[in-house]
Amino acid sequence: MRSYPATVSSLIHHCTFSVLRRTLSLRSPATVTTPMANGSTTATEDSLRRALADKQSTIDARGSAIRQLKSSGASKSEIDEAVKALNNLKLEKTSIENQLKASISGDSGTSRDAFRQAVVNTLERRLFYIPSFKIYRGVAGLYDYGPPGCAVKSNVLAFWRQHFVLEEDMLEVDCPCVTPEVVLKASGHVDKFTDLMVKDEKTGNCYRADHLLKDYCKDKLENDLAMSADKAAELKHVLAVLDDLSGEQLGAKIKEYGIVAPDTKNPLSDPYPFNLMFQTQIGPSGASTGYMRPETAQGIFVNFKDLYYYNGNKLPFAAAQIGQAFRNEISPRQGLLRVREFTLAEIEHFVDPDDKSHPKYSEVKDLKFLMFPRDEQMSGQSAKVLCLGEAVSKGIVNNQTLAYFIGRVYLFLTRLGIDEKRLRFRQHLPNEMAHYAADCWDAEIESSYGWIECVGIADRSAYDLRAHTDKSNVALVAQEKFAAPKEVEKLVITPSKKELGLAFKGSQKMVAEALEAMDEKEAMDMKAALETKGEVQFEVCTLEKTVAIKKNMVSISKEIKKEHQRTFTPSVIEPSFGIGRIIYCLYEHSFYMRPSKAGDEQLNVFRFPPLVAPIKCTVFPLVQNQQYEEVAKQISRSLTAAGISNKKDITGTSIGKRYARTDELGVPFAVTVDSTSSVTIRERDSKDQIRVNVDEVAAVIKDVSEGRCKWNDILQKYPAHTSASADE
Ligand code: AMP
Repeated sequence: MRSYPATVSSLIHHCTFSVLRRTLSLRSPATVTTPMANGSTTATEDSLRRALADKQSTIDARGSAIRQLKSSGASKSEIDEAVKALNNLKLEKTSIENQLKASISGDSGTSRDAFRQAVVNTLERRLFYIPSFKIYRGVAGLYDYGPPGCAVKSNVLAFWRQHFVLEEDMLEVDCPCVTPEVVLKASGHVDKFTDLMVKDEKTGNCYRADHLLKDYCKDKLENDLAMSADKAAELKHVLAVLDDLSGEQLGAKIKEYGIVAPDTKNPLSDPYPFNLMFQTQIGPSGASTGYMRPETAQGIFVNFKDLYYYNGNKLPFAAAQIGQAFRNEISPRQGLLRVREFTLAEIEHFVDPDDKSHPKYSEVKDLKFLMFPRDEQMSGQSAKVLCLGEAVSKGIVNNQTLAYFIGRVYLFLTRLGIDEKRLRFRQHLPNEMAHYAADCWDAEIESSYGWIECVGIADRSAYDLRAHTDKSNVALVAQEKFAAPKEVEKLVITPSKKELGLAFKGSQKMVAEALEAMDEKEAMDMKAALETKGEVQFEVCTLEKTVAIKKNMVSISKEIKKEHQRTFTPSVIEPSFGIGRIIYCLYEHSFYMRPSKAGDEQLNVFRFPPLVAPIKCTVFPLVQNQQYEEVAKQISRSLTAAGISNKKDITGTSIGKRYARTDELGVPFAVTVDSTSSVTIRERDSKDQIRVNVDEVAAVIKDVSEGRCKWNDILQKYPAHTSASADE
């Protein structure tokens, strides 16, 4: 495990720097989240590889024995007997190979790919999303949301605003995507928001260095069954430590394994850092560099002073922002999960670092869900169901406010329809966290691509506000007024301008600043040394040299002062939501197939909860007939007036086909007009139907789709419809 130099890891918001950035990213089950988390499969694979190697040597030995038998003129029956034994050995070897293959890829590997293909085909065919600029052959990592996709996204965002912004009384802001360089210089992105890249030395094509190494190792492990157990262990170790490898180490491994450009087989350059921000110019002169923001958080930090004032100079408070973020990913893969422009929804909750309790903590503390604390990851265990309150009291989660947001994120995701069995909160390992961060947890959702980080929840302490305070010279701080003045012991360092001026002339100011910046221990050590020796050597970083400080150059003392308030930099607790990733995982968790009534085809269904469904209700006249169409129009108008999104389908297609079409869009309710006084309402997943009077339809659908009652309650209240004509 590599330790990160503080100067580097302290620089950047969110992911700290390239290596960490990758660590936070997508993981497939094959590489699993942590080095040790796949210990059990390793043991099976290792023993199978050993058994395979043993079998191969026995086969080789038997092969040469047969050759000897033949050359020594042994009898035919003797040779036949030996060949038969050899063939049996070969069969045993094939069986071990098959077991090994199954153990490596998991039996579900192929079905997972087939499932993903079915989901993606449906999403593309029904225009949930469209590869952007498709008629010009598209651009990797850029996608459009089509009509149902837009509706789902807007429902998710509306619920996000309801669940977080309204419930928590957050201050929402909307800042520009184009950001001046100085802001992203202060945050560390200009210098360190990088991934390591290699280039095809002949064509110039670019690849992510860690991706190539990962693909190589996975491919070898899956397909080179003759590989020794030792070699397999080595490749697994590389996969486990991939995120910790430096550019030099990645380059060395790429050379050692002879990895070449995948498309052309040309040699590759050494890895070098590539900044993921899209650069631009602000204004026509070209004098002012800007970047498309890689996250929305910086807009909130730079507005802290005004927001704090707006909040009546009180802490804690949270600000929130929903907006586009841009990252020029080197080689975007995994469809909607790693894209170059995506919607982020971010919360910055500002809190007193000395009091991270949360007034609404009791509302979430009894929640129980899958958590994957650091210790479990390091000791090779799996995620387990924990009670959030216990995790806080045992010190697993650092503080109440962080836990409060973990609980709220859990409620948000599960209410959207994310399967709680495939949702876990994984704590960052020490090497993933910036040194200033108190604690970080990712909400990871399992999809056909493995466990995906969809929400990062981090206690980032005071780092971001301090960084902008330093760069802008605007104090981004808060005050706590004491009820009664407090007596506090204060360190007072007073450099003597006159003496420093005489000794250091033009450098006087820098020496004085360095003296004033000493912490208590340094200052008291200096005071003691000056009193005994009269002079000390003192390193002034800004001068890059050591100077001699004499007793008359500085006065150091501790004084008791009365204070009426304390000034401090607030800590920030930041939940950061990748909206596109959440939506994609929701698609996978909601998708299923069921046979048509005739049993001759498989029909696709999205079981979206009404909250998320792109359209809440479809309205069909059973047959093409003017009277029924009029009733359908009337019902559609009443649904619209009640604020329920709906769609009429007056095509003459069979009712079964029309149901199948709306099921595939995840529409939860369908109204079929088969008379002018009453109609049927069908629920998508159970296919149950009830009969309701025309003038009651809108109220019933509104109640059930806005969660005021359950479909089961409605079933009790209205007569069931069991018509033979319900031809699905
Ligand atoms: P980060 O700032 O890297 O922690 O990212 C915050 C959130 O944005 C992550 O939890 C992801 O859900 C999402 N995210 C990051 N990078 C991408 C990307 N390239 N495409 C889509 N979503 C992303």
